[in-house]
Amino acid sequence: MKNAISRRKFFYKTVGISAGALVLPTIAGFKFQEKSGGIKPMIITSHANDLGQKAMETGWEILRNGGSAVDAIEKAANVIELDPEDTSVGYGGLPNERGVVQLDASYMDGKTYSAGAVACLENIKTPASVAKLVMQHTDHVLLVGAGALEFAKAWGFQEENILTEKARKIWLRWKEEMSPTDDWGAPEHIQNLQKKESYWRDFPDIEHHYGTTNVLAIDMNGDIAGCTTTSGLSFKLNGRVGDSPIIGAGLYVDNEVGAAGATGRGEDVIKSCASYYMVLKMKEGRAPQQACEDALKMIIEHYKIVNPDYYPSEKFVAINKYGETGCATMKGNRNPQMSVMTSKGYSRYEGIIAFQGK
Ligand code: ASP
Repeated sequence: MKNAISRRKFFYKTVGISAGALVLPTIAGFKFQEKSGGIKPMIITSHANDLGQKAMETGWEILRNGGSAVDAIEKAANVIELDPEDTSVGYGGLPNERGVVQLDASYMDGKTYSAGAVACLENIKTPASVAKLVMQHTDHVLLVGAGALEFAKAWGFQEENILTEKARKIWLRWKEEMSPTDDWGAPEHIQNLQKKESYWRDFPDIEHHYGTTNVLAIDMNGDIAGCTTTSGLSFKLNGRVGDSPIIGAGLYVDNEVGAAGATGRGEDVIKSCASYYMVLKMKEGRAPQQACEDALKMIIEHYKIVNPDYYPSEKFVAINKYGETGCATMKGNRNPQMSVMTSKGYSRYEGIIAFQGK
């Protein structure tokens, strides 16, 4: 085991910046802004595609008109949740192993130190909005399953079938490949052609095989809010809850510091309280970029004794109260990106692959 650890290829790129510097260099596509006064308003999402841009433009309209970060992130998240083509979030999200879409979402308001979340919510397209209501209208933080649905309906949300045809077909294809020996198995003549996860090859247009979105914003008053919303891991066990609705895991916001959010395998993020950790790191003076990398490193360190070659699939995003940004992923073929919108317009910031397995 000792040898295995020392042989491990440990590829860790650090960002050469010192906390407290006034003007920070541009590294790997990041623009580090001046700290004095900070950048506000601003809004970011971990969705770095066209849909992410649309979401940012929607949130930005609210922010630039003096609206709150709390309201801007909801409208931005709703854009992604309501898109039937996005298979990772809200309506159109991939279902659990039983073919049922169960959504998780969390919300946090840095100004009032309040939070709300829903988990395993079925039949409602916009779980971020329900999480916001839990935050604003109850003394609780997390509602799950039937209770979350009852709460949503009480607030006028319409129960709908949120399993799209596209998501249903992907789920069926997955199920078909689960066994070559029973009725769900693939036809005999193609069994030998089957490879794990070949169902994705039948759906080449799908950008996200799993996924989540984090939306973080600072409004004109300098108040910070964030939300995380997801359909969770595809084909998860019925009732499984990921990190997204767990405050401190999939999301954390502190008005005095900044905000952080996570996507990727939620089990690792829950155990590491990764979003809280990132905010804590920023409080200690680390830049958002460094905080994202710190959290990834911390997770790898925890697994080192058990499996030195294990690199989970997390992607972290963070902002601090000055409007500096960070984004890092554990591994991958291309650098992670996120969408950012400020008064300078929309841009896609490229983050860093902090670690790379062998
Ligand atoms: N973090 C989500 C979960 O574990 C999934 C993802 O981000 O892909 O539910």
